[in-house]
Amino acid sequence: MSYQGDNLMSVKRTNRSAALRILHEQGSMSRKRLAENMHLTPAAITKIVGEMIGEGLLSEGEMISCGNAGRREVLIDINNEYACGLGVLILLGSATLSAVWLDGSVIFSETVSLPEHAPAEETVKALSARLMELVRENGISRERISGLGIAIRGITSEDGRTVRNSFGALAETDYPLCEAFEAETGIHTTMENNVRSLLAAQMFLAKDGTSSGAQFFVRCDTGIGAALSIDGEIWHGVTAQCAEIGHIPVVRRGGKPCHCGKSGCLETIASPGAILEDARGILSPDETPLLWRRFGGDSGKMTVHDVFQAASNGDSGASVIVDRAVKTLGMGIKTVIYLVDPGKIVFYGDMFEDPYYLSLLNSELQEGVDTRHSTVFERSRYNKILDERAACLLAVEEFMDRGGILPL
Ligand SMILES: [Zn+2]
Repeated sequence: MSYQGDNLMSVKRTNRSAALRILHEQGSMSRKRLAENMHLTPAAITKIVGEMIGEGLLSEGEMISCGNAGRREVLIDINNEYACGLGVLILLGSATLSAVWLDGSVIFSETVSLPEHAPAEETVKALSARLMELVRENGISRERISGLGIAIRGITSEDGRTVRNSFGALAETDYPLCEAFEAETGIHTTMENNVRSLLAAQMFLAKDGTSSGAQFFVRCDTGIGAALSIDGEIWHGVTAQCAEIGHIPVVRRGGKPCHCGKSGCLETIASPGAILEDARGILSPDETPLLWRRFGGDSGKMTVHDVFQAASNGDSGASVIVDRAVKTLGMGIKTVIYLVDPGKIVFYGDMFEDPYYLSLLNSELQEGVDTRHSTVFERSRYNKILDERAACLLAVEEFMDRGGILPL
């Protein structure tokens, strides 16, 4: 850790940032209560708030009675439409372009398809052009844009400027994606791995980012990604690969190849994609009688939910696959429980909407974990809706961190 002093500009930014965070997490409040929350004098708060009201970032709302003697105070709140964050989420085969106001409400969102191994330069040009078109179509003026957030699958550099490896989303490795978007759009850009940005968005919307303790976020889509926050800070690790539980090696020999380049990773058994692939691999009248009765040899339309349903109705082959997947993911999560002792584990993704799967996973997670641990398991209440917000919220959070000052 390095120690350094704060100059006056930095103190001002810190105070403005704290005021924004408190108002975002706790809602509107009087200057007096804000001063108490920030441990500042009423005179200091009056100055900070006055300045932010003057800019239009905060606004005065209704009057409330407080204390005795009939004193009345005005509530202060964030003017959410003062600024917006733009975002681009880049996944394998698709990108989502969107914009949100300061409270995370969506202004626009559009998903476009990309080829796998998309050429980076051409893709950045095309996505930037469409994004700026959407900005114009939605009447967003340039001076209201707080920044652009990029959320991308794979490994980003420690400084968050370069994509080390997007595992097939972009063709290039070690590509300076932030610079490329900045050059195309002229907008300050910030970048994060997609799962970490989902966790940040989850904490932003749940307004529990400042709670102490660790939160572990598991996202199951095609693969399995995860992210960890400790006391509200997203943990990256030395090589920005913290919490990659999907790539824990669980099969020593003969495991299925994984997109990360290894074989036998946890996600090659426990991800929705792997479960479906395994079920398709054994589809037959003998091994998977219920699935066979429904699909015959044509498994093209089969989804992971069909495999869960067959398992819950006693299909022997489907049950073996689902049980193995649940036990494998459970093992990974129990390791996290014993290693990190998190307060909360949040499950994000369509798979967790399946009551049968979720009940199997919950039972598995009780097995072998002593009662001294009090980890809460929670299906994300923002299932599916974080994807269109996560990248934009990177820009909104950065705006709040710099005290709500718009770029020049
Ligand atoms: Zn892997």
